[in-house]
Amino acid sequence: MASVFGHTALGATIGVLLLPERRHWRWWILAAACAFLPDADVVGFKFHVPYAALWGHRGLTHSLLAAAVVATVLVGLYSPRRATNAPGLTRIWVLLFLATASHGLLDAMTTGGLGVAFFSPIDQQRYFFEFRPIQVSPIGIRNFAGQKAMRVLASEVVWVGLPCLLLLLLNRLLLLRSQPLQDRAG
Ligand SMILES: [Zn+2]
Repeated sequence: MASVFGHTALGATIGVLLLPERRHWRWWILAAACAFLPDADVVGFKFHVPYAALWGHRGLTHSLLAAAVVATVLVGLYSPRRATNAPGLTRIWVLLFLATASHGLLDAMTTGGLGVAFFSPIDQQRYFFEFRPIQVSPIGIRNFAGQKAMRVLASEVVWVGLPCLLLLLLNRLLLLRSQPLQDRAG
């Protein structure tokens, strides 16, 4: 896994990019949570589920199908409560899907463990990207300490934090540029 910091930073960034207005901050937090959710599968280690199994770490929970299920369930829960001026259901679904799916993308860029079963359960092969600059994070909060933790965080600052920051700045600039045009149109 990448660490909780890397996953949540990318999830929140996706939230801000898709729903930039500040009043949507709850969606940013939910997107951050969705981005970390697939690692709930580490509970399988306690029940002796093998790493490479269907339900093993980085298995089905890290697949694109699981991201679609998470997005669909959350949109289903949100739909009856949706206010008239709230974001549309399609946009929310895309946001939650991308945030959850982003987890596997980061994991596939890490230096250790098995790869990610993106296409599980149809294809249970584990995949890594060719480009893997992110130091793999140890499993369990107790193991996340000392120099190893600093190396993980440093690699995530460079390969996750900075790109997210650049994307947010770029998005902000584009929004600011489009603002006068909207005002004129209004
Ligand atoms: Zn993971």
